[in-house]
Amino acid sequence: MRAGPGTESNEVMTLKFPLLADRTFRSIFDIEPSALAAAGIRLLLADLDNTLVPYGVPEPDEAVRAWERALKAEGVKLFILSNNRKSDRAKRFAEALGVPFIGHAGKPKTPSFYRAMEEMGCTPAQTAIVGDQIFTDILGGRRAGVTTLLVEPIRLAGNPGRYLRYGVEWPFRALTKRRNQA
Ligand SMILES: [Mg+2]
Repeated sequence: MRAGPGTESNEVMTLKFPLLADRTFRSIFDIEPSALAAAGIRLLLADLDNTLVPYGVPEPDEAVRAWERALKAEGVKLFILSNNRKSDRAKRFAEALGVPFIGHAGKPKTPSFYRAMEEMGCTPAQTAIVGDQIFTDILGGRRAGVTTLLVEPIRLAGNPGRYLRYGVEWPFRALTKRRNQA
């Protein structure tokens, strides 16, 4: 795991390639809580829809609950940062999981990122964002100066718009993967 923002080369990469994530993973379950802790991450901001669970799944399943417990055991706090516009979506999910949240987060704008960090008492260097969308989760994370972790959307099926967006994102996903291997 890279240490994230703060190093000169990383800052240069951020300016040149704001749409590239620091790391990509197939799913959240491939992100090792101990590796985050070892990289100095204390706060993990998480997108909700298609990152933690598919769209429309109202509460966390046991796998997500176990992953959150593993994060907590490593001293990494999970915080849900969701753009979902349905008023109760993020609230119901976060409360069921027992973690703080911001709904209508307005990613890729940065105020919700800063609000979450202030609420949790963490600096950008201690913070990461995990999400499935480059133009909201990753771009917002880059702008806020936090470590960015991109996952594959859990489910694209049933929404033509999601396929289109994924097509536009594809080159940036591929470049991030290639950069990780370099
Ligand atoms: Mg999402």
